[in-house]
Amino acid sequence: MAENFLLPTGASCCACTGARLRRRSFVALLGGVVLTAGVPDAGAREGVQVGPPSALSKLVSAEQVEQAAARQYSGMLGQASEKRALAPDSHPQVQRLRYIAQRLIPHTYEWNPHARQWRWEVNLIGSKQINAFCMPGGKIAFYYGILDQLKLTDDEVAMIMGHEMTHALREHAREQMGKNTATRGAIELGSALLGLGGGGRLLADMGGQLLTLRFGREDETEADLVGLELAARAGYDPQAGVTLWKKMASASKKSSVEMLSTHPSGPTRISDIEANLPLVLPLYERAARPDRRFGPPAASPSKE
Ligand SMILES: [Zn+2]
Repeated sequence: MAENFLLPTGASCCACTGARLRRRSFVALLGGVVLTAGVPDAGAREGVQVGPPSALSKLVSAEQVEQAAARQYSGMLGQASEKRALAPDSHPQVQRLRYIAQRLIPHTYEWNPHARQWRWEVNLIGSKQINAFCMPGGKIAFYYGILDQLKLTDDEVAMIMGHEMTHALREHAREQMGKNTATRGAIELGSALLGLGGGGRLLADMGGQLLTLRFGREDETEADLVGLELAARAGYDPQAGVTLWKKMASASKKSSVEMLSTHPSGPTRISDIEANLPLVLPLYERAARPDRRFGPPAASPSKE
């Protein structure tokens, strides 16, 4: 079904946007402290600990960033569709991705209350690239290559999706725009705050880069940890965070992995994930189990 959507696409995307910025103090509570201490701190929440969102993101309007992202996303889908590289709603892998997204989305609201109003979308692009992204406002795309070449399990798909959703929830793109705005001086900054001409132009410029900006290491760590928690709460095994990034590293030895160029992997990525597993495993163990009827693509597409 629908294998002819798998034509190569020139849609050069990659997801997310970057920001390096200040070292966020993410405090990895040692495993199990929250749950096994007997008398949990009344103020403690279960799950991973990350710092507050960046104040720099407030320099530009979330609405404008989301509108720019929606335009970019829709443009990309249009291009993919013209090349017959947009998977139809009936494609089993689209249904799989949308099912997993539906399980994760209710857990995103705690990280960004506006996510309740987002018009979330999930699409599958017929490209061999190993890539996926979630743009500001919840516009998600997976490339067929990441599902097929990495033979991702549902748990691993949930890890990537949670990671990508976190970039949107924690407004890493908006943060980068805020940083760029700050460096352009007070006049443009003022117009950005007011949503006037100069700022609009700036946002238009930045909007064009939403698909290609590179995330910073700190944003990556945050996305890994919050993503782990989102997936665990949705009933996906957080240990898949380890197998996922091992698969990604192994694939990168054989060919280029587009996802790693925009989501740089630090030397401690896997050990950071492992160190945080005790914080999220109890959430996973208590979560309702997802439907497992979908699974990875059955066979590699033969088309180049
Ligand atoms: Zn990332």
